[in-house]
Amino acid sequence: MIIDLRSDTVTRPGPGMLDAMRSAPVGDDVFGEDPTINLLEEKAAAMFGMEKAIFCPSGTMTNQIGIKCHTQPGDEVICDELSHVYQYEGGGIAFNAGASVRLLQGDRGRINKNLIQSAINNPDDVHTPISRLVVVENTANRGGGSCYEMSDLVEMSEVCKSLGLSYHLDGARLFNALVAKRQSASEYGKIFDSISICLSKGLGAPVGSLLLGKMDFIKKARRIRKVFGGGMRQAGSLAAAGIYALDHHIERLSDDHQHATIIEKILTQQSFITETLPVETNIVIAECDPSFNLKKFIDKMKEQGVLFFSISPTRFRMVTHLDVNSQMMDALSEKIKLAL
Ligand SMILES: *Cc1c(COP(=O)(O)O)cnc(C)c1O
Repeated sequence: MIIDLRSDTVTRPGPGMLDAMRSAPVGDDVFGEDPTINLLEEKAAAMFGMEKAIFCPSGTMTNQIGIKCHTQPGDEVICDELSHVYQYEGGGIAFNAGASVRLLQGDRGRINKNLIQSAINNPDDVHTPISRLVVVENTANRGGGSCYEMSDLVEMSEVCKSLGLSYHLDGARLFNALVAKRQSASEYGKIFDSISICLSKGLGAPVGSLLLGKMDFIKKARRIRKVFGGGMRQAGSLAAAGIYALDHHIERLSDDHQHATIIEKILTQQSFITETLPVETNIVIAECDPSFNLKKFIDKMKEQGVLFFSISPTRFRMVTHLDVNSQMMDALSEKIKLAL
């Protein structure tokens, strides 16, 4: 038994998803002629009450296209210091958009209205970059899967609107937040200028992300996607996996959240753990006593078939997903005991 808790990206498509992939009609999507991709884009846009969507190979690409479309070189992007767009996209904000970044110190990856207001540059001051875009991440990955309250997201959208800033959501794990907070996708569609969602995280599709926004914005995004090399041809089989995931894998995310709570409980009983971040969705982040040999523990756990990553010398992360089941959770305590 391999218990792979490295990421929710490690899932493999099951029989239902594979059937959907095999039977999907396809065409050339650069020509806009892949019926399955068109269907997925329409389905996602309708779900969020947004005008249009575009299918891309990765969430990094949907974020980067979004940022590129919202900014001009030299503009400033405002986001949390832990955010994926800053930490894990290879400096893409600078590389692709030529934009500057203002980092905010939020609460477990979550920013708020006041932090944004204090970071806005005076547009009449020629010394400072033009504040142009706010990016929020929900759930916040490095925040341990923390979720936003809708009221905070609405407040930030009002600040953005009043100051003429664009408002982008990195919703790689937005469906986890929707399930955990019992929010609806359409509430998000109303307040954001653009939303990126991943099909390849908790939803369990092998590949793919969608960028959602207004008609003009997505038209521009299609051009940028081509420039970034993300124009795919007969990728409808991948889109079919995405459609299957939207139809079958959203409600079950509560199982992943339940499993993460079980992991949290097991970890808090361990003497080498000093703290776990509050578990809100499918990510558990734990802090170890500085005297504890985390690297050795990770190696020993690997020998027991349990895979996970450290995110600092004293911190590690475990992520639950579609391919983690309750038998694995039952076995985890014993495996930790054997690895210590
Ligand atoms: C995984 C992830 C992405 C996108 O990652 P890709 O691997 O490029 O699909 C974006 N934002 C967050 C918060 C993520 O966790």
